[in-house]
Amino acid sequence: MTAAPSAPDRETRIQDIQSLLASNLQFRSFRPELEAGFIAHVRDRAQRLSRDSLGITVVMYLITAVMGWSQVGRFSAPQYRDGNLAAMGWLLVVEGVLLAFVLSIPYLPGRERFYRFYASISSGGAVGVLIYGASLFPEPYFNVFLSYVVILATVVTYGVAGMVTRQTAVACLAGVVIAVAAVAQQGLWLNFGYLLAYGGLANVIGILLSFLLESRDRVTFLQSQLLALEKDRLDEYAAEVEQLSRQDALTGLANRRHFDETVNREWGLACRRQESMAVIFLDVDFFKPYNDTYGHPAGDAVLQQVGMALAAAVGRPADLAARYGGEEFVVLLPDTNLAGACAIAERIAGAINALAIPHSKSTVAPQITVSMGVAAMIPSADIRYAELITAADQAVYAAKAAGRNRIMTAA
Ligand code: GH3
Ligand code: MG
Ligand code: MG
Repeated sequence: MTAAPSAPDRETRIQDIQSLLASNLQFRSFRPELEAGFIAHVRDRAQRLSRDSLGITVVMYLITAVMGWSQVGRFSAPQYRDGNLAAMGWLLVVEGVLLAFVLSIPYLPGRERFYRFYASISSGGAVGVLIYGASLFPEPYFNVFLSYVVILATVVTYGVAGMVTRQTAVACLAGVVIAVAAVAQQGLWLNFGYLLAYGGLANVIGILLSFLLESRDRVTFLQSQLLALEKDRLDEYAAEVEQLSRQDALTGLANRRHFDETVNREWGLACRRQESMAVIFLDVDFFKPYNDTYGHPAGDAVLQQVGMALAAAVGRPADLAARYGGEEFVVLLPDTNLAGACAIAERIAGAINALAIPHSKSTVAPQITVSMGVAAMIPSADIRYAELITAADQAVYAAKAAGRNRIMTAA
């Protein structure tokens, strides 16, 4: 697959493929990009096929060569024997070269671009050489026998070439015409009635076969493309859902669940490294009166602003600001001691003061203020992280009790 497409691009492609699948494929053409993908798919498969069938093809060729040679030697009329053996020899050499060519397509230079070209040379060449070869035998017995081989080779070529039908048809028919012209030009003998009847029929059957194979191939190709694109879409949805399930919808900060997961993990790390871990708990002062005075939507806006101030105040990648619930926030500070955490709490207080959100019902300031509790400890195996959270939470209560709008550290 190529690089993952962007979502709108992908949706267009999905729709395009779905409408192609719903329509009669024979009368709809693929867009250039899709067509190129299809040709690459067919080419890869043909290359794999020729690679995988290397051994059996060589064995089959050798069997045919030995049998053909001995048959011609045994059944030729004495006056034709030498000529027939020579013709058989040439035929085997040329077919051998063609076969070697087909088998080497996967390794040929520029095969990406010239695949259609290589494949037409081999299919047209095979059919043409056989027709011409058949005419080299003056006895009707061999001549007719080789016509059968031509028919078989034609049908097999159409079936195996696995290209677009038009390409194969043009190559095979050109092979027939060139070979027949060569036969006529050299005054060789060929049973044209036979050739036209059966060779023509072989081409018709071949084209039909190739057409059916190609149509089915195109459907399979489209389905596999669709599957890949839909999997890509599902993966993206899954990532989105995963992200949403860890995010607080109102503030965009991490939610409680995300915080719990992170603190659990970080606690284990801090315990192993014997590093101090700090937590800041934050509660908006007089928030119920604020809601009652300015309305719930205004309260929501305050929470969003506080959230943004928090997110801006924590700097290190491992730090995590989260909405704990309601108008309570929490900041996790791994590898931070109490003094460091207090400095960050001061920064948060400064940022929230700078917001200067008017609050007429607050008894401590004319604007929104917060109370914060800070706690830090070096974890050990017998302390659970809940103790750190509880300590910070209790410090918030102490801050509230002491008059709000302040930072208190855990005792
Ligand atoms: P204190 O200074 O002691 O913290 O008083 P308070 O009024 O801030 O505390 P209290 O716990 O009494 O009230 C919290 C309020 O926060 C009550 C609730 O309506 C409000 N609240 C909780 N979640 C949301 C929310 O998502 N949006 C809004 N607008 N208000 C919320
Ligand atoms: Mg509260
Ligand atoms: Mg409050």
